[in-house]
Amino acid sequence: MADCIFCKVAAGEIPAQVVRRGDGMLAFRDIHAQAPTHLLVIPTHHVASLNDVTDAGLLGRLLAFARDTAREAGVGDRGYRVVVNTNPDGGQTVYHLHLHVLGGRPMEWPPG
Ligand code: 5GP
Ligand code: ZN
Repeated sequence: MADCIFCKVAAGEIPAQVVRRGDGMLAFRDIHAQAPTHLLVIPTHHVASLNDVTDAGLLGRLLAFARDTAREAGVGDRGYRVVVNTNPDGGQTVYHLHLHVLGGRPMEWPPG
């Protein structure tokens, strides 16, 4: 997708603070961090949203990658939150599938 910012991040065309890469996935720091640790996990190929995933195995790999990334970031034991905003009511603003990994402080519930 020529105009997708996360495709450009995956291709190295937009700079990002990459913390983990492999198996067709990438984790990098969110540019507007909402927590001391705020990472985004994406597939390196374009998938617009959770609704567009046809390979359920990809979801398992992304979730395991997010968990391993959280551990490496040092928030695994205290805990973290994984969020997948989907479409307008879900608060999605970038239409390339991504998992938010938030940690480093207690998360509140319910979310806003
Ligand atoms: P969404 O609102 O779609 O769930 O999340 C998109 C996230 O991408 C937001 O948290 C936003 O701060 C982040 N973001 C948007 N553009 C960029 C960018 O160019 N680089 C990085 N690292 N994060 C971005
Ligand atoms: Zn994309």
